[in-house]
Amino acid sequence: MVEYKLFINGKWVKASSGKTFHRVNPANPKEILGTFQAAGKEDINAAVDAAADAFPKWSSFPAPRRGEILLKIAHLLRENKESLARAMTEEMGKVLVEARGDVQEAIDVAEYMAGEGRRLFGYTTPSELPNKFCMTVRRPIGVIACITPWNFPMAIPAWKIMAALISGNTVIYKPSSDTPRCAVKLVEIMDKAGVPKGVINLVIGQGVEVGDHLVTHKTIRGISFTGHRDTGKHIIGIAGLKRVSLELGSKNALVIMPDADLDLAVDGILWGAFGTTGQRCTAASRVIVHKSLKKKLEKLLLERTKKLKLGSGLSPKTDIGPLINEAAQKKVHSYTEIGLKEGAKLLCGGRKPSLPGYFYEPTIFTDATPHMRIMQEEIFGPTTSIVAVEDINEAIEITNNVDYGLVSSIYTQNIANAFKAIEKCETGITYVNASTIGAEVHLPFGGVKQSGNGHREGGIEGIYEFTETKTVYIDYSGKLQKAQIDITTIKQ
Ligand code: NAD
Repeated sequence: MVEYKLFINGKWVKASSGKTFHRVNPANPKEILGTFQAAGKEDINAAVDAAADAFPKWSSFPAPRRGEILLKIAHLLRENKESLARAMTEEMGKVLVEARGDVQEAIDVAEYMAGEGRRLFGYTTPSELPNKFCMTVRRPIGVIACITPWNFPMAIPAWKIMAALISGNTVIYKPSSDTPRCAVKLVEIMDKAGVPKGVINLVIGQGVEVGDHLVTHKTIRGISFTGHRDTGKHIIGIAGLKRVSLELGSKNALVIMPDADLDLAVDGILWGAFGTTGQRCTAASRVIVHKSLKKKLEKLLLERTKKLKLGSGLSPKTDIGPLINEAAQKKVHSYTEIGLKEGAKLLCGGRKPSLPGYFYEPTIFTDATPHMRIMQEEIFGPTTSIVAVEDINEAIEITNNVDYGLVSSIYTQNIANAFKAIEKCETGITYVNASTIGAEVHLPFGGVKQSGNGHREGGIEGIYEFTETKTVYIDYSGKLQKAQIDITTIKQ
C-alpha cells in the first residue's frame, strides 16, 4: 500500500499525530488507493510558518520569472496528462475523457497565468494637479489558504494556486479528503517544476477537523474556497476580516424555446445533467421547456438516456461513472424519494443499480413545479427535472426563482429571446445554444446570489482575487500640493 505524505516547507512529511486514513475507488470500493496523512493543528501551524517565511523572497522574485516556473508546471502536467487522468478517474470516478479535460484545464490555467506574469496590469490616470503622476499597481496579499472540493481535483486547485502564485502569494493548499491522491500528484509536479520551498504547502485532512484552524489562523491573510454553500457560510462566519472568496453551489436552468434546435438541446441536457455524474456546480439540474415541445423532448430524452452506460470511468464504453462516495449515493436517492412525494413524475432512473460502486441511474423527473425541493436544492447527482412554461418571460422567472445564480443556458434561434436571457437571467454566466457546462480559463467564472460572494476566478478577475490594489501618487513639483484645495489656483 502506497503511503502518501503532506508537503510542508519543501519536504514530504507524515502527520505529526501519526493519524492516517484510506481512500477507495468509488467505482469499486474494495480497491484501496493509498494511505494518507490526516493533518492536525501542528501540521497546519508548520505549513503556515513555512509559507510566511517564504513570502518575502517569493513576492520579490520578478513576476515574469514566477511565470517561467508556472510554464514548467504546465509542461510537466502535459507530459503526465494520461497517467494523471487515469489516477483521477480511479480516485473520483469521472470518465477518462472528462478526467483528461480536467488535467487540460490545469495546463491551460498554468499557461494563462504564466502570461499574466508579464502583465499584472494596474492603470495610469491623470492627476488633478500639475507635475504629479498617478497609477495603481497590484500587490500580493500574503499567505493564502486554497480550500478545494473533489469534483475537479486538478482544475479547481490549479485555477486558485496558479493565480495566487503568479501574484506573489504563498499558499497552503487543503484539498478534499475524497481526492488526496490527485492533490499529492499536483504538488509533486509543482515541486519538480522548481516552486521554492515553503511557497506551496499541502495539508490533507477532514474539513471539520483542520478547516477551522486553518481559516482562523492569524497569519493567513486570504482564503479562496470552493465548495458547498453551507461550508462557505461557515467559513465566512469565522474568518473575521480576512479576504475571503467563495465559489459555491447552484441550481442551474437550461431553457428551451419553441424555436430551438431540439436535438442540440437534448445533447446539451445529457451533457449538462449527467456529465461528471451530475456532480458539477454548473450541472443542468432544471430543464425549462416551452409547453409545445415538452412531449417531444421527453421522448427524445428517454430514448437517449436509456442508452447511457454506467460503469468504471476507465472503460471507454462507460458514459456515467460512480458518485463520489456512499453518502452522496444516499443523498441522491433521498431526492428521488422527495421528488416522488412532492408529486413529480419519474420519467426514468431513480434507482441504485446492482453494481459494486456508488452508482446511480440517470434520473429525469417531469411535471415538476418551480417550488418543489428537487427544483430548488442542489442534488449534486445525475438527476434533472423538467417543467413546462408558456413563454420566455415565465422561463426567465423560473430560472431566477432559486437562491443560487451560477449558470443559465438558453436554446433558441430567436435573437430577442437570447438577448432577453442574457439581460434578465440572474446568473454569473449565460450560455446561448450551449449547455450549462464549459468554462474557459481566460474568462471570469463565478456566480451571483448564493453561488458566491462576488469574486470571480479565471481571466484577469482571477488575478484580482489574489491581489490588493495599491494606489500610487508621485509628486515631482517640488512643493506641497494639496488635492481638492490647490486646484482653484491652477492657471492655464
Ligand atoms: P464541501 O464544502 O463539503 O468541501 C469543500 C472543501 O471544504 C473540502 O476541502 C473540505 O474538506 C473543506 N471543508 C469542509 N469543512 C470545512 C471547514 N469547517 N473549514 C474549512 N474547510 C472545510 O464541498 P464538496 O462536497 O467537496 O464539493 C461540492 C460542492 O462544491 C457543491 O456544492 C458544488 O456546487 C460546489 N462547487 C462549486 C464550484 C464553483 O466554482 N462555484 C465548483 C465546484 C464545486
